[in-house]
Amino acid sequence: MLIALFPGDGIGPEIVAQAKRVLDALAIDGVTYEEGLVGGSAYKAVGHPLPPETLDIAKRADAILFGAVGDPDCDSLERHLRPEQAILGLRKELGLFSNLRPAKVFPELAHESALKPEVAGSIDLLIVRETNGDVYFGEKGMRTTVDGLREGYDIMSYNEAEVRRIAHAGFQAARARRGKLCSVDKANVLETSQLWRDVVIEVSAEYSDVALTHMYVDNAAMQLVRNPGQFDVIVTGNMFGDILSDQASMCVGSIGMLASATLNGSGQGLYEPIHGSAPDIAGQGKANPLATILSAAMMLRYSLNLPEPADRIEAAVAKALADGARSPDLGGTMNTIEMGDAVLAAL
Ligand code: ATP
Ligand code: MG
Repeated sequence: MLIALFPGDGIGPEIVAQAKRVLDALAIDGVTYEEGLVGGSAYKAVGHPLPPETLDIAKRADAILFGAVGDPDCDSLERHLRPEQAILGLRKELGLFSNLRPAKVFPELAHESALKPEVAGSIDLLIVRETNGDVYFGEKGMRTTVDGLREGYDIMSYNEAEVRRIAHAGFQAARARRGKLCSVDKANVLETSQLWRDVVIEVSAEYSDVALTHMYVDNAAMQLVRNPGQFDVIVTGNMFGDILSDQASMCVGSIGMLASATLNGSGQGLYEPIHGSAPDIAGQGKANPLATILSAAMMLRYSLNLPEPADRIEAAVAKALADGARSPDLGGTMNTIEMGDAVLAAL
């Protein structure tokens, strides 16, 4: 099994190095690693944010562990040369359409949440967001109305195959967790959402062991704050998922804690913390590596089919926190390497 390591920019190399230490400590049989350049560091080295050599490694890999891309030095480059094109290019080239973002509160960190600690403490949910369709990829443009007003437009569309594959991803995730799937749409107003709902109901026939509910997105936004403990898995479209997953991340607490996976239909996946390259703290040892370490656990679970070491990593992170490990974003003073040490000690 091949794992691609793409550390990227800013704090990326620091946090991926800690995740690699944890993976090495698990001494998993038959795993090899290849490192590739992405983002601003790739642009500076070879003139492109996603060089062909990197894409080649990605295509051969079973999974990609990704740090972050983003570099203020590259802000004035043409769009296709900017660091962010690396992640967009990987999603497109590998057909990564299903973005999984778990949100769970570690009890010790419940006070970091924007919610009351007891409400935050009830959160253990997974958002499954579609990432290859919706209004992001529809026809868009600017035109002038007959009255001479500038008018922008973005076409929102989904076809049934796109909805079907993300619905399967949602049901499968629910089956592997607590067996509850909430499909979020706006079917009272949008045709895309009516199709979404119809297709999700069709697909549900194959998952009689999963309890399916439907919720309008505005209500879902409210329920995420009012009673987030009701959710197990939420499946939703690209735009609604973008908004709800950022909302859910603030319900959980520090940005330095949240992992994500983006999968295609064949088990291959890209794993990354939800935060960016944090240029403001890069190179200072202040970055919290736990989101990246938890992303490595998701990688073992979803792409390498190794749930047992994945559980061990997650338990080690929980124990490190219980033992008092705190980086600055969590109100402590431990540096990036010391946070890695704490997880290794717990492991
Ligand atoms: P991007 O556009 O790449 O998403 P961003 O502007 O949203 O970047 P982030 O890089 O996610 O910003 O950082 C937002 C803030 O959170 C910054 O102040 C950063 O220092 C902090 N931050 C991000 N990741 C971490 C981390 N792992 N540990 C500690 N602080 C972090
Ligand atoms: Mg951001």
